[in-house]
Amino acid sequence: MALHRNLIDGRDTAASDGALLDVLSPIDGLLFARIASGTAEDVDAAVKAARAAYEGAWSRLTATERGRLLIKLAAAVEGDAETLAALESRDNGKPLRQSRADVTALARYFEYYGSAADKLHGEVIPYLNTHFIGVERVPHGVTGHIIPWNYPMQIFGRSVGAALAAGNATVVKPAEDASLTILRVAALAREVGFPEGALNIVTGLGRIAGAALAAHPGIDFLSFTGSPETGTMVQTAAAKNHVGVTLELGGKSAQVVFDDADLERALPALVNAIIQNGGQTCSAGSRLLIQRGIFKDVVDAVAERFRALRAGRPDREPDLGPMINQAQQRRVQAYLERAKNEGLTVAAAGGIASDAPAGGYYVAPTFFAPVAHESVLSQEEVFGPVLVATPFEDEAEAVRLANGTAYGLAAGVWTRDAMRSTRVARAMRVGQVFVNCYGAGGGVELPFGGFGRSGHGREKGFEGLVEFTTTRTLVIAHG
Ligand code: NAP
Repeated sequence: MALHRNLIDGRDTAASDGALLDVLSPIDGLLFARIASGTAEDVDAAVKAARAAYEGAWSRLTATERGRLLIKLAAAVEGDAETLAALESRDNGKPLRQSRADVTALARYFEYYGSAADKLHGEVIPYLNTHFIGVERVPHGVTGHIIPWNYPMQIFGRSVGAALAAGNATVVKPAEDASLTILRVAALAREVGFPEGALNIVTGLGRIAGAALAAHPGIDFLSFTGSPETGTMVQTAAAKNHVGVTLELGGKSAQVVFDDADLERALPALVNAIIQNGGQTCSAGSRLLIQRGIFKDVVDAVAERFRALRAGRPDREPDLGPMINQAQQRRVQAYLERAKNEGLTVAAAGGIASDAPAGGYYVAPTFFAPVAHESVLSQEEVFGPVLVATPFEDEAEAVRLANGTAYGLAAGVWTRDAMRSTRVARAMRVGQVFVNCYGAGGGVELPFGGFGRSGHGREKGFEGLVEFTTTRTLVIAHG
């Protein structure tokens, strides 16, 4: 059985008390690996190693040299792509095609931020002719990264890639349910020559290792991706140390379908937006808002596609894999039960493939329509393959409903009317709007983040790099 240890100061390290956590595959519920159950002491050692690297070997590299290391790491990830993808599918349950896409994105994050490392410059403010005033961009110092299980490699790439490119030394706490690919990529980083301590990984339980990282006084900036509840705890802990945080939290994103939409184009995207990664995507399009005149036709067409969907084992290229763990499977099933008990109409349900192992955490995708905007399923993030549809009359109502949850992460707008698409898109209180298309999170190059309960701060794109810096203003008198 594979045993995976922490990476602290360039060395594979057991937990300080030797404790281990079992890793069960969501495909069949069977034990297949063990990881270190990191302690507060391990987190402390990792933060100290990062501080030493930040004040030593890591800071002595030029931005160009840091960038070259990241580009080398991108190539190493590409060279290891099939092994990483297979490992992710085993650990996380994603269909193999999704794991491969995650590896491609991870390599691209390292390439993108590697190439951007030496293009991050400050500015000169021509304010007084008796002084030179410059504003330089400087790293925060030691950054902490708390990563969820749904897209481990992508979220690691976007946050740790940007932090390293900007010159920070890093300490990472992966999710206990999806640590293995992150550990493997960290081993690749060591092989391509990252100095000891620049990248440290402490696996383990969120309430122990994660909480210790969030509260550690040696951390200068925190990047958290996960649930709003944990995000609040992390931000509260960070506030006690007076450090900044980016919070990338959940979503209840709407896809707004007007009666002039190109439905042939829209339908596959409307279904994919909730089925991709089994609905365990923060920017999943989990609500359909459909103009009343076409409501029945669109619901029927979506229902037809839903009936054909199958959850199954990742290596058989199913429409979706299992849920990440038994708790998540039960959570989604509880939402389905509650909706049925409240009398919501099931417009269609998919199924579970006949060859899906009995012990796996599979859930049949389910589509409810019509669903009132105020209902629990329209307001709460299920984080599973559950879609709801609600009719609207006009543009004003569409905008009100789309913006009518506590979240504000992403939105889709489907219409052939160019002026309306711009008006509606710009009225959305979300970080990303897609018109006549829908991409979960968009590409590596596009800033991403939320409003309200979806969090604050931006990751991805050049803006994501800037988040991992702060400024120092220099005022120099001429004489
Ligand atoms: P979670 O329970 O909040 O966990 C996220 C991370 O926080 C994990 O590494 C977890 O460790 C750790 N953690 C748990 N308790 C902690 C504590 N007390 N202090 C510090 N860290 C702690 O969220 P999740 O269930 O993994 O992820 C699902 C949520 O993430 C959804 O709401 C989803 O929408 C959101 N998400 C958002 C984005 C985005 O970019 N906006 C992307 C992906 C996911 P353990 O796993 O070991 O407990």
